[in-house]
Parts: sequence; C-alpha cells; structure tokens
Amino acid sequence: MEQKAFSTLSRPSVIQEMEQEQFDVLIIGGGITGAGIALDAATRGLKVALIEKNDFASGTSSRSTKLIHGGLKYLQNFDFPVVKETGSEREIVFNNARHLVHPIWMNFPLIKKESYNLATLKAGLTLYDRLAGVRKDERHTIYGKRKTMKNEPLFNKKIVQGSGVYVEYRTDDSRLTLEVAKTAQERGAKLLNYVRMTDFIQNPDNQVKGIVAKDELSGRTLKITANYIVNAAGPWVDFVRKKDRPIKGKYMVLAKGIHIVFDRNKLPVQSSTYFQHKGRLIAVIPRGDTTYVGSTESIYTEDIEDIHVNKSEVTYLLDCLKDMFPAVNLNISDVISSWAGVRPLIGEEGKSSAELSRHDEIFESDTGLITIAGGKLTGYRKMAERIMQYIEKKNKEKKTASITESVHLTGGKFSSSEEIEQLIQKLYGSYRQLGFSKQEISDYVERYGSNTEVFLKEVADYDKKDFDKKSRNIRAEVKYTVENEMAATLTDFYDRRTSYVLFKPNKVLETLNAAAEEMAELLNWDKNTMDEQKRKTLYTHHKAVTFLDK
Ligand SMILES: Cc1cc2nc3c(=O)[nH]c(=O)nc-3n(C[C@H](O)[C@H](O)[C@H](O)COP(=O)(O)OP(=O)(O)OC[C@H]3O[C@@H](n4cnc5c(N)ncnc54)[C@H](O)[C@@H]3O)c2cc1C
Repeated sequence: MEQKAFSTLSRPSVIQEMEQEQFDVLIIGGGITGAGIALDAATRGLKVALIEKNDFASGTSSRSTKLIHGGLKYLQNFDFPVVKETGSEREIVFNNARHLVHPIWMNFPLIKKESYNLATLKAGLTLYDRLAGVRKDERHTIYGKRKTMKNEPLFNKKIVQGSGVYVEYRTDDSRLTLEVAKTAQERGAKLLNYVRMTDFIQNPDNQVKGIVAKDELSGRTLKITANYIVNAAGPWVDFVRKKDRPIKGKYMVLAKGIHIVFDRNKLPVQSSTYFQHKGRLIAVIPRGDTTYVGSTESIYTEDIEDIHVNKSEVTYLLDCLKDMFPAVNLNISDVISSWAGVRPLIGEEGKSSAELSRHDEIFESDTGLITIAGGKLTGYRKMAERIMQYIEKKNKEKKTASITESVHLTGGKFSSSEEIEQLIQKLYGSYRQLGFSKQEISDYVERYGSNTEVFLKEVADYDKKDFDKKSRNIRAEVKYTVENEMAATLTDFYDRRTSYVLFKPNKVLETLNAAAEEMAELLNWDKNTMDEQKRKTLYTHHKAVTFLDK
C-alpha cells in the first residue's frame, strides 16, 4: 500500500481514515513514549493510531538534557538492570539514528566533599563499562589532578582532585521523537498532532473501546475506536486517567528541571562535563556554537501547560558553574536561551514521597485503559516492547520480541559514521553553488540525516525565485517541514523541527516574517491567522529568553 508523506497537507484524509477505521491500538500522546509504541506496534503488523493534543514532542520530549544515557547515573543507586538495559539501548538508538546520536567524551571530575573518590569512581566506571557493554574505544580513563587540569584548565583547582572520562551520547530529543513518529507512519501507523483526547467511549461491558477527540486546528469533534487504548501522555497521564476513573493506587508527582544556554565562547569547556554539586549532578554540554547546562530538580505543582524558567533556578545553575569554573565570569545576561520540563515520578498510596519511583511502569484500570508512565528518552524502545508484550499477554498470545532493534529511523539510513561524512561531502559538492558552507551542510545533515537532499532540492527550487539567501533557506525549510514532518504551526517549526528557539534564538526574530509568509501560503492562512501564529512564536521565544521573577 502506498504511504502518504508525513505532511500537514494530508491532514484531512488522515482524520477521515482515523474516524472510519477500527484500530488494534490507539495511543494517546505523541512524545517519545507514544511514538515508540506506535512504531513497535506498526512493525508487528497491527493497525495503529496515535493522537497528540499539541505538537509531537511538545511535552517533556523536547525539554530533556538531550542525552541517550549509558546509565552511569543509575549506578549511584545500584540500579544494575537499568545500567545494563540503557547501555545496550543507546547502542541500538545510535545504530538506527546515527545522524541524531553523537558519542561525546564526558569529563567527570572528582570533587572534594562530594560522594565519589578515586577508588569508587574507578570501580564505578569499570563496572559501568562492563554492565553497559561499552565498546572498547569508548571505555573510561581515570586521570590524576595534574592531567585533569590539563584536560580542562577551567576547572576549579581548589576542589578538583582527579577525573574519570567516559562516553555519553548526545541527541536531539524532539527530532528523535519526530523521526520515530515518522518511521511509524512509514510502517503504516496513522498519526496526528493537534488532536486532543477529551473523553472515552465505553462498550456495554464498561471497557474503553474508543475516544472522543477534538481537532484543535478546525475545532471539529471526532471519534476513534480501537481494541486497546494506551495512555502515553507523560506528565498528563493522570489527567487522562481521570477521564476514565478516579485515580486510585499509583499517582504522578511532577518534578521540574531547567536548562540554560550560553554562547560557546562564554563557556568554552574542552568537552562535556558532568559534575557533582552538593550531591546533584549538573551537565555542561557543548552543542554547535553553544554550551548548555542543566538541570535543576524541584517538585512542580503549577500550570503544566505553560512551564516557565524562574530566575532563582537560573541563579542556582550560575552559582554551581561559578564553583566549578571560577575563571568563567557568567551573568544572567549571558544566558541566551533556556527551557523547562517536567517528568512524572510515580507515587503510590500508602508510600512516602521519598519512595517516588523513576522507573517506567504499566498499570491498567478496570475499564482496560493501559497507562505507561515514567521512564526516559533512552528507554523508549524497551518501554514500547513492554507495552506490546503486555497487550499480547492480555490477548493470551505468546510474548514476542520487538523488531525495532533493526529498524533504521527515516533519516537514519546509514550503516556507518563514514557514510554520514560521505553524504556531507557529496551534498556539499552538489549544492555549494547555492552558497552553503560545508558546516551549514553538515548542520542540516545532523538535522535531517539521509533525507537532507529532499530539503536541499527545495532550496534549489526557491533559488530560482527572488529571495535573499536567508529568506530562501528559511522558506525552503518551512516547506520541507510542513510537507514532510507535519509542522502545522510556526512554533512547531522554530521549536521542535529546528530547535532555533533554543539554540539560535536570534534567528527566530530575523526570519519570522519570511517563515510566516511561507507557512501562510502553504496552509492557506488569512492575515489574522498569520499574525496570531507570529504572536505565539514570539511568546515561545520570549519564554526562552526571559525568566520569571521567582
Ligand atoms: C529536566 C529533564 C531532563 C531529562 N533528561 C533526560 C535525558 O537526558 N535522557 C533521557 O533519556 N531522559 C531524560 N529525561 C526524561 C525524558 O525526557 C522523558 O522520560 C520523556 O521525554 C517522556 O516522554 P513521554 O512521551 O512519556 O512524555 P511527553 O514527551 O511529555 O509526551 C506526552 C505527550 O502527551 C500529550 N498529551 C497529553 N494529554 C493528551 C490528550 N488528552 N490528548 C492527546 N495528547 C495528549 C502531551 O501533549 C505530550 O506531548 C529528562 C526529563 C526531564 C524533566
């Protein structure tokens, strides 16, 4: 069967199909968890639908530290099975999406009065290498104080006693989510952003067999039916559960974390760093010409739809940086952007708040609504497998393993890192006459992977029109993301498709008019809609570059 592109222009027909078909599995939530389940279920040959009330990855899945963790963090809590699983998972995600997953050297300094000493760090990293199945060339090295200071001259020599250097994998969380969703669509799943589940439909036996949903773009109501409904709404899982039954047993507690971004030359660390500050782990991660830092952690009880970064949280991170890198003089005005996200921790009636779980868990209500909560970006494939095996068990079928281990994501059709370099070289050869530097081509390949040429062909088309280079590139990119990545709003484009809001906030202001005009043309917006879209994007930009006085 021919598959339509993952395009906002196909939206009316996908809505129609969703209403007409009877699905095997319907997923509520288009973060990494929901997208992962859609891909797993589709590769098993099932009929799958997924709805997302906002944009794909607009929840926590665009607001993480953006690491495919090897699980070192979990070693601290003696969580050996998690270290083992995340270690092998990061290798799989790397193989399937090489353009989005980059091994980075992580410098872990030993700091006076913190929990690690040379012996425990060495033992920990050795165990980690073994449990996580770390490749030979990526195994850790331990350094004494002198070599540590040579490796990172910015460290505070009064508190640093040595270091361990090991490998973590950096990713782009929103693009990873989007590519998993798009790959699920390639495998036959039907996915829609901007469709909100508002109610459940129960059969005469009080089992949930469908949902009522609202198309947030047209205001229309639709009904979608399925044998199994999976609630993968991340921090919203309890809101969704409440539409089904009052919450009993397990419940969510939301923990908030923020990140701040600097120009790379303001925080010019030699490599990524994970340092302990009064017990808390803070990551400092270079990305392109920026360095980002995070995170904080605090219980969150405010509006989940509009999470802001507070000044006190920024000041806390600046203080941590000052203690670790005293020669780097950073002020709040040096922060060029920021983001905040919440993760659900799982509490249970009768247990104390100190016993909140960070693991993923599956629970089912007596109406048959299956909820999956907790977990992390890194474990999305295994979480999806667990959900599908849970459904197999309910169907009294034999448990079968997922095949997504060998499914390359849509932009990840590479079998080695050399192939990525070859693609960059080839595209640079073919498109340099459009005025691109090799670095620009490389940045696009990091974003669109093996699909980059589809975008560059758009640029070549737009080059025949009368636009300056900046407008030409942004218009072509808007067109590519609308027609191939289901960008439906300007904020989808600037936030989740390109991350310009987070890492190139000035570019948002410089290109907003051209991008808005292009999207208006593609999606038939009138002037009011276009102005409203610009206003919403400016609000998102404002939120990233300013902080609440709290
Ligand atoms: C500060 C921080 C840092 C982190 N860093 C890392 C890291 O470096 N590595 C890592 O592996 N993990 C990390 N995590 C964890 C990871 O980000 C999350 O586990 C993961 O993104 C959760 O994905 P999700 O799909 O479950 O939730 P979400 O991404 O929040 O997706 C849920 C979706 O459901 C949608 N939804 C809600 N209600 C409805 C409805 N009624 N109808 C339709 N859709 C609905 C929402 O709009 C949302 O998009 C971090 C988390 C935080 C908070």
